[in-house]
Amino acid sequence: MANKQYDLIVIGTGPGGEKAAVKAAYFGHKVAIVEHAGLFGGAEVITGTLPSKTLKETALFLSGKQEKGLFSIERDLSRKASIEDFMFRKNLITSTEARAIGENLQRHGIDVYHGTGSFEDLHTIRVSPPADCSLVADFILIATGSYPHHPAHIPFDGHRVHDSDTILQIKRFPQSLCVVGAGVIGCEYATIFSTAGSKVYLVNDKTEVFSFLDREVTEAFLEEIQENGIETLFNKAVNSIEVPESDSAPLRITLSDNRVLETDMFLLAAGRSGNVRSLNLEKVGIPVGPREQIYVDASYRTKVPHIFAVGDVIGFPALASTSMEQGRIAVAHMFHTQDLEHNSLFFPYGIYTIPEISMVGLTEQEAQKKAIPYVTGLARYADMPRGKIMGAQRGFLKLIVKRENLSICGVHIIGNIATELIHYGTHLVEDKKDLYFLISQIFNYPTFHDLYKYAAYDALSTLAGHKVKP
Ligand SMILES: Cc1cc2nc3c(=O)[nH]c(=O)nc-3n(C[C@H](O)[C@H](O)[C@H](O)COP(=O)(O)OP(=O)(O)OC[C@H]3O[C@@H](n4cnc5c(N)ncnc54)[C@H](O)[C@@H]3O)c2cc1C
Repeated sequence: MANKQYDLIVIGTGPGGEKAAVKAAYFGHKVAIVEHAGLFGGAEVITGTLPSKTLKETALFLSGKQEKGLFSIERDLSRKASIEDFMFRKNLITSTEARAIGENLQRHGIDVYHGTGSFEDLHTIRVSPPADCSLVADFILIATGSYPHHPAHIPFDGHRVHDSDTILQIKRFPQSLCVVGAGVIGCEYATIFSTAGSKVYLVNDKTEVFSFLDREVTEAFLEEIQENGIETLFNKAVNSIEVPESDSAPLRITLSDNRVLETDMFLLAAGRSGNVRSLNLEKVGIPVGPREQIYVDASYRTKVPHIFAVGDVIGFPALASTSMEQGRIAVAHMFHTQDLEHNSLFFPYGIYTIPEISMVGLTEQEAQKKAIPYVTGLARYADMPRGKIMGAQRGFLKLIVKRENLSICGVHIIGNIATELIHYGTHLVEDKKDLYFLISQIFNYPTFHDLYKYAAYDALSTLAGHKVKP
């Protein structure tokens, strides 16, 4: 039987693959997509983005943390909730989103092949059983994502010693948890489990965390999580882990300073590598980098002109938000759709820890390094009427403003819905809006958006030498 012929074959149904496939089909091209997992959606839906964000909301709800002391009635269900309660909404979101992706692919007339895709030759993809077939296409898009790093000395068992995939499958709630790696994923899970009631230790091999963030934000974050009971152990590595026979005995985790931590469970969240091993890339002469990432140009083309790659498999920034857009841009370059040739230069970082953090543009430290004369403006959630209504005691929004023309070149937020609030900041930075534009805007009142306006007034009062607030 002749191989089925397509305009585009996509390997992987994560955000990069799904959005690319759907866009190409929307523009009238014949598209096949290959997926070897039981559910659609990749790390975004099954093992990463949405599950962790849902657990964060669940932890906040069960703990009643954000409403404590506000309405005269207290809620703290965290000790009463079972692991099934804790996982209920996460499982619901995963299954509904995976189904929604399947329906979206179907609605666009995309042929779905279940099995592992690998290169047979430059234009042919072999799909393993159950699909068990070969497909041919003019263009091929690799969107196979990434997998968590597994150092040899960590005895992962998916029961008590976890990576960021298996922590989502726990069958009982950890009394205590040692999280190793204070990156985005490690800090998110550390704050989720701590809020949900576990004693959490956060171990990191460096002193600095989130080096890309403004230092004032990082300091506020560490202060708050320490106050919330997370014990931070920085500048330390894990030397070994002893896993006892009995579940009732603790894991013994020996750190590089010889301190021994005894905890119920362990999570390593320290880096990811590209999913390339199953692809047979040698057949088509595509090299891979040290973290198994594929090199691409600005249009997401590999060194083979008709083979593109997007998402985690190309490395930084490895976000669902950017992977989707990369997929759409790759399709624009394949089929000249002339709608989206490149992404905006500025994109926000969202860290869904408790407290939430988001930023766009320059940090104060970067402005100093680049010798840009700047002024900062800061407004606190606790001073905003909406913040008072919602009981926000901490958190702030900070603007970095160029002295030269008063344009806003950085926005940093720590606190409630920071990942939502940042998008207005992204426009301010991208469009080089200045402080006078910002104070001329009328926002709904009361809203957290007032933070922007009062941070602008703070910067103006510093410039005028007439600081009203300390
Ligand atoms: C815990 C965690 C939290 C995160 N939080 C956020 C967040 O808050 N915001 C954000 O923007 N990003 C977040 N991310 C990152 C985000 O999940 C990834 O950047 C994104 O999912 C990458 O998309 P992708 O399309 O490249 O690959 P993936 O989503 O990994 O999908 C790849 C797909 O390809 C399939 N596949 C692989 N190889 C083959 C093959 N040979 N044949 C067939 N199928 C194959 C896989 O089964 C998978 O379905 C988080 C990640 C993790 C782990």
